[in-house]
Amino acid sequence: MSEQQWQSRTVEQQVRGTPTSDGAGVKLTRVLTQNLQRRLDPFLMLDEFRSDNPGDYIAGFPSHPHRGFETVTYMLAGRMRHRDSGGNEGLLASGGVQWMTAGRGVIHSEMPEQSDGLMHGFQLWINLPAARKMIPAAYRDIPAGDIPLLTGHDGATVKVIAGHYGAQAGVMQVLDTTPLYLDMQLPAGSSREVAITPGHNAFVYVYQGSVQIEGVAVAAQQMAILGNEGAGVRLHAATDVSLLLLSGRPLHEPIAQYGPFVMNSHAELEQAMADYQQGRLL
Ligand code: MN
Repeated sequence: MSEQQWQSRTVEQQVRGTPTSDGAGVKLTRVLTQNLQRRLDPFLMLDEFRSDNPGDYIAGFPSHPHRGFETVTYMLAGRMRHRDSGGNEGLLASGGVQWMTAGRGVIHSEMPEQSDGLMHGFQLWINLPAARKMIPAAYRDIPAGDIPLLTGHDGATVKVIAGHYGAQAGVMQVLDTTPLYLDMQLPAGSSREVAITPGHNAFVYVYQGSVQIEGVAVAAQQMAILGNEGAGVRLHAATDVSLLLLSGRPLHEPIAQYGPFVMNSHAELEQAMADYQQGRLL
């Protein structure tokens, strides 16, 4: 066949993460910044934290509020303890995911539970639709062993955290934004085609090695925003590569953010602030 039946999305833009700090001084790389929230709707933020220097992470994220969206923390290495205002507590360990729906409000802490060694992971923020921003808070701790892991004959591995990869359902299915969240390890020379729902915004973040997408090299610590034309994305591993692939249904609603609150209007942000200050956030 001379004609290609399957069209891959291409790289629309590459973005390099910005070093910053958050919480009580945790050094991290902010990959998805506020100026990209409209383009990558429903995704609001992606941070990578990666350090084997305890001074970079030990202070953690002491008690702080959230309202109006979901946080997804994925640990590759290290341990983080979560405690929240609902009395929930969990230990997020290597390979595990915590999927938290802040809804109308949560006050929680996320603190490292190690005093040395490598801490490496990601926190992704996914928006909630206006109609569901004020639902009760919820969270789910997902140990590494509960995340479907596919291994190919070529040695490639795919962890299906959310959405579907071929016939394999991820451990999380989220109604509002139907996110696809994959962690892929591709050995040098291998390729994969991943279906992406038409109309969904998508990006790839390479955290080790380098990947080719339709002839464009995407190096480590680069996010590739994918154009919206095509049935999915064809990934070719130029070297051994580790990457996250994300896509989601855009909400097409106004986005108003003030720090840990993400609502649809300035008035709703002021309400969130007032509720927090007056103990009515939850
Ligand atoms: Mn938090």
